[in-house]
Amino acid sequence: MSETLLVNALPGEMRVALLENGEVREIHIERSAGRGLVGNIYSGKVVRVLPGMQAAFVDIGAERTGFIHQSDLAEAMSAKSGNGTERHSAIGDYLRQGQKLLVQATRGPLGDKGARLSSSLSLSSRCLVFLPGSARLGISQRIDAAAERARLLSCLREALALEGLGESGGYILRTAAEGSDLATLRAELRYLQRLWARVRRCSQESTAPGLLYADLPLHLRIVRDRAASTLERVLVDHPPSLQELRDFCGEYLPELCERLQAYRGERPLFESFGAEVAVREALERRVELDCGGFLVIDQTESMTTIDVNTGSFVGGADPVETVLQTNLEAATMVARQLRLRNLGGIIVIDFIDMSGREQRRQLESALRESLQRDPSPTTFSGMSDLGLAIVSRKLTGKNLLQTLGEECPRCLGRGAIKSARTICYDIAREVNRVARTGEKVELLVQAAPAVVALLRGEEAPCLAQVCAATAARVRLQPEPLYGQEHFDIAML
Ligand SMILES: [Zn+2]
Repeated sequence: MSETLLVNALPGEMRVALLENGEVREIHIERSAGRGLVGNIYSGKVVRVLPGMQAAFVDIGAERTGFIHQSDLAEAMSAKSGNGTERHSAIGDYLRQGQKLLVQATRGPLGDKGARLSSSLSLSSRCLVFLPGSARLGISQRIDAAAERARLLSCLREALALEGLGESGGYILRTAAEGSDLATLRAELRYLQRLWARVRRCSQESTAPGLLYADLPLHLRIVRDRAASTLERVLVDHPPSLQELRDFCGEYLPELCERLQAYRGERPLFESFGAEVAVREALERRVELDCGGFLVIDQTESMTTIDVNTGSFVGGADPVETVLQTNLEAATMVARQLRLRNLGGIIVIDFIDMSGREQRRQLESALRESLQRDPSPTTFSGMSDLGLAIVSRKLTGKNLLQTLGEECPRCLGRGAIKSARTICYDIAREVNRVARTGEKVELLVQAAPAVVALLRGEEAPCLAQVCAATAARVRLQPEPLYGQEHFDIAML
């Protein structure tokens, strides 16, 4: 398998597409507006110690001064755990005004409060978190198989021994470590050590306050997390981003340097490799299949449902064969869309009914095979008698629709609004209610043009009857700026 990464940058937005053998498999998008200070490491300078609050203000060179509490001071914590008994030490024992302090932002600035800081640092790679000041080895609670937990921990111990890093600090295996091998962990240990060495060097050389380390931007993170063995080339259409990649690979991943290339084609990068089309399609509810059938993908808060339809596909003379072919094509497309859209959690797929046991078996194995190519872990335990397949896929970050979309202001996420006819009846009921509050009242009804047209046409008898029963008079006024569900009734 050969992989290509496309890196497309605009000021404020970075997009990366992963191609496998020329086909778009993954889309990643990051906006700089969504990146905060959390995780950044600073060389800070204590500007004020607040003994009453057991805290201190620390200048980190950001707009607002950061804040550190004694409970987030590594020095205070190790003193506490060191002698076993609770010492009532004051923050002034550890910090004084003007002191330089290495800190990491644990919470972003909020309102007029500055960032919350900690002097217990952590650096992460894809599978590991490195805790320089600690000595413990831990593992994510979300990896639950006992055998896998034991395997990973012993793999990590072996990797640490082989890299000569036994005493280097604490490590935590992240959820993404599930299934990873010795070589991967060793490579990540080397990366983390180089990173840590650089942070320390910068902290010695720079004057406080200043930023020493920021979590990697998207393009660097993806290059770091891809297996160097399968990544064939990285095409970049933005010279400053290419330079960042060159600097980054030069320092941490030298084997990738020669695979970084500037893209100089005439057509935009994402267009010429089909990635632009893939992004567009991955936001659609309906996905066409080559055979003429289609999928309808609906995302709700708790799950995703995918409905398979034959559409215009009539195939050959054999209807059983037609259905099987559509279902098989759908199985491949479902796996592809899950990855492209980064859909996680429970996914329910409603295939077209097939009575044949042999065909059902064929479909199950086609779906299983397509899901196996997904690097994000999935589970599929077979189809139900009703032809439903339930797949679960590990959640990693936001899905594409959440990244690029926002709730529809018209329907507020319902996916439908009341029809014009429904609004006509709502109006008739409301006219009836208001008209009964007086005698021979005159009302002005303002509503969307489509609603007024119905009230003057097909639904006129309904309104006329209400008016006759209540002796009210109604004037209708179309309001082009009203949404369909919006109407007002005023007494004149
Ligand atoms: Zn809507």
